[in-house]
Amino acid sequence: MTEFKRRDFLKLAAAGATLSAAGCATMAPKGRVVVIGGGFGGATAAKYIRMWDPAIEVVLVERDGAFVSCPISNLVLAGYSTMQEITTGYDGLRRHGVQVVRDEATAIDAAKKTVKLARGGDLTYDRLVVSPGIDFTFAEVAGYEAAMGTGRVLHAWKAGPQTVDLRKQLEQMKDGGVYILSIPVAPYRCPPGPYERASMVAAYFKQAKPRSKVLVLDANPDVTSKPGLFKAAWKDLYGSTLEYRGNAKAVGIDAKTMTVKLEVEDVKGDVLNVVPPHAAGEIARKAGLITTNNRWCDVDWRTMESKVVKGVHVLGDATLSGPGMPKSGSMANNHAKIAAAAIVEMLNGRSPAPVKIINTCYSFVSQKEAIRVSSVHEWDATQGTLIAVKGSGGVSAARSEAEGTFAWHWAKTIWADSLA
Ligand SMILES: Cc1cc2nc3c(=O)[nH]c(=O)nc-3n(C[C@H](O)[C@H](O)[C@H](O)COP(=O)(O)OP(=O)(O)OC[C@H]3O[C@@H](n4cnc5c(N)ncnc54)[C@H](O)[C@@H]3O)c2cc1C
Repeated sequence: MTEFKRRDFLKLAAAGATLSAAGCATMAPKGRVVVIGGGFGGATAAKYIRMWDPAIEVVLVERDGAFVSCPISNLVLAGYSTMQEITTGYDGLRRHGVQVVRDEATAIDAAKKTVKLARGGDLTYDRLVVSPGIDFTFAEVAGYEAAMGTGRVLHAWKAGPQTVDLRKQLEQMKDGGVYILSIPVAPYRCPPGPYERASMVAAYFKQAKPRSKVLVLDANPDVTSKPGLFKAAWKDLYGSTLEYRGNAKAVGIDAKTMTVKLEVEDVKGDVLNVVPPHAAGEIARKAGLITTNNRWCDVDWRTMESKVVKGVHVLGDATLSGPGMPKSGSMANNHAKIAAAAIVEMLNGRSPAPVKIINTCYSFVSQKEAIRVSSVHEWDATQGTLIAVKGSGGVSAARSEAEGTFAWHWAKTIWADSLA
């Protein structure tokens, strides 16, 4: 049985029966782990728990039918990749014996150790993993909620239908038009992501609409990641096609007049790509996992267990990042391995050991050339957090096609590591 049916699952759960997963139907389970969210964090945790101890049942709750990768989605906007290329189904996880339930987790009862599902039924767990990614705080940009209904203002900061819509808007924009990309104050998902997006749209304009312009309105004072490398690429490759403005925070939008309102002026565009500020995904808020700035979830970095709700491990973008740690797929994949190792140890009556993790983020600056930033983080008992290892990591010496090749290999490898 490779495909677990939700109907069968509910029947079994209602009867209080033990779920049987492929490969361990007769083995007494050591415990059940429920994972909410099948993105970089949740998918990797589900897979690695099963790989490291097949006697543990793992149930993954994911609202979408397939994983769509944000990494490489900026290339889709430029026409250099496709939605098909960045989409992966969940059969790989099923082959590891993960029971994939397509549903929305609507509530967590940490005292009873249950997760409520939108379509009815509760799941019980011994340990819970929550990796819901981000949700947007639209209300912080006046007019955003009203504009959303018109479809004229997009964020495309969760890869999926908005990626397709933004690509269409760029294709339909007249030559000589202005594409505005508005970036929120850090921390946001993927520090270099907006600058890669600006580069990709500029590359597309240079080739298809040479009189058009990319205008980057950044709420931060300067480019927040790889600034020297991005700015050199923009100067060399795009000239006046790409204009960057720091300290340019969007405080409002008006879809009727296609205007972004900054603190001191209004700016008009033809395509408005406004990325609102974020917070941990809504389920984290509902479950009382948010600890900091009304946005992020603090965790014990040795286990990823929440500092406020016992038995619940939080991964990925939803966490309060440690010093120098970006919100990235690479990090979420590493968080997942910390959590998976800790959960396997705990359910086997052993103590988890702290580990070192790495981050690598590639960004394309043209169709073939990319730049990279990497870092290594280790547990520091004195500070009680993960800190960057001195002398580790760094950035590319210069943009190159070799880095572009590595970037594609990185993407294909992490998709397989998380989902295959
Ligand atoms: C344009 C762009 C480019 C990027 N490029 C890179 C890059 O090159 N390298 C890199 O490392 N990172 C990159 N990132 C960042 C990366 O995509 C995120 O950091 C990563 O996806 C975070 O993983 P996660 O598991 O926390 O969240 P996600 O991957 O977003 O997964 C969350 C999942 O949880 C599901 N979910 C949420 N709530 C519920 C619920 N209540 N019930 C059921 N399911 C739920 C969602 O449907 C989703 O599938 C990029 C991001 C963007 C926007």
